[in-house]
Amino acid sequence: MNPTREQIPVSKFRFEDISPGTKTRLELVVDCLPDGQPLVFSTLILRGKCAGKTFLTTGGVHGDEYEGPVAIQDVFDELDPQLLKGTFVAIPILNTPAFTAATREGGWDHQNLARIFPGSPAGTVSERIAHAFSTYIVGQADFYADLHAGGNGYRIKRFAGYQIVDSQSNAVQRAAAIAWGFDLVWGTGGLPGRSLSAARERGVPAIYVEMPGEGRCRPIDRAHAQQGLRNLLAYLDMVPGDFPTAPPQFCFETGTVGSGHLQVDYPSPTSGLFVPAVEVWDSVVKGQSLGQIRHPDGTVLADVPSDHAGRVLFLRTQPRVFAGDCLVFVLEVPIS
Ligand SMILES: [Zn+2]
Repeated sequence: MNPTREQIPVSKFRFEDISPGTKTRLELVVDCLPDGQPLVFSTLILRGKCAGKTFLTTGGVHGDEYEGPVAIQDVFDELDPQLLKGTFVAIPILNTPAFTAATREGGWDHQNLARIFPGSPAGTVSERIAHAFSTYIVGQADFYADLHAGGNGYRIKRFAGYQIVDSQSNAVQRAAAIAWGFDLVWGTGGLPGRSLSAARERGVPAIYVEMPGEGRCRPIDRAHAQQGLRNLLAYLDMVPGDFPTAPPQFCFETGTVGSGHLQVDYPSPTSGLFVPAVEVWDSVVKGQSLGQIRHPDGTVLADVPSDHAGRVLFLRTQPRVFAGDCLVFVLEVPIS
């Protein structure tokens, strides 16, 4: 049976209204869904006894990404409000209609929430979610982290990223991405419409994190995400503890607008069966086959050669493919 939680209109919710030294689960009411059910953000708030920063984290912007939501729940459980400095606010699954549909896009409108921030109060369900988050939530934070994963049908090399802003914000975001603790930190030109764009509009430094995905929630990936959250809390001086400060082996920026948009690379030239020839994080050279598209009778319909050298960041693992679906993303890694 579902637990009964206090419901508060999202427009009225202030983090500072929560009493110090408490751990609270509540529902922020965003709107009404087309079927009459309430659209809510199930929200976890841990207000420390001592003053400190306000750290906001979300998962489930895409409905088929699970490592982040579960890690958030686990870290919320383990934190002690008597020892925490500041306020930890988490919305494990921001996009519940997409979660219910178990798809990347929203179940009602099939929109990608990560392209439509800051949304619209009178728009589609996804646009209303984006609007509520942009208008009432993210601006209350001192720092924001959005947790993503490969999702159904894709596997991705884990990394922490940030949108390149100005040099002062970049320094904070880069240090936070390093503190998270993955061995790849990537600053990108980004795209408008992302949750990080909403944070940027409000002057809130932010990072995003990618975890392997494939629609799974493996213990090892959850453990990595939990440790990343603990590291970030230490970086923000909210809990005691060490965190990485030295750049990892792979730490660089790609300033082009749209860099970091993985799903547009190597669109499949035809429909069929995708047979990859590489694994995630393999090094590839220009011209090397990344995989084939085959007809059900085994005929090779297309070979997909790499058009540049790099490392496989993102790989389709669902073999059935339609023309235009992304197959792979090859990251150009600078030679240091
Ligand atoms: Zn995502």
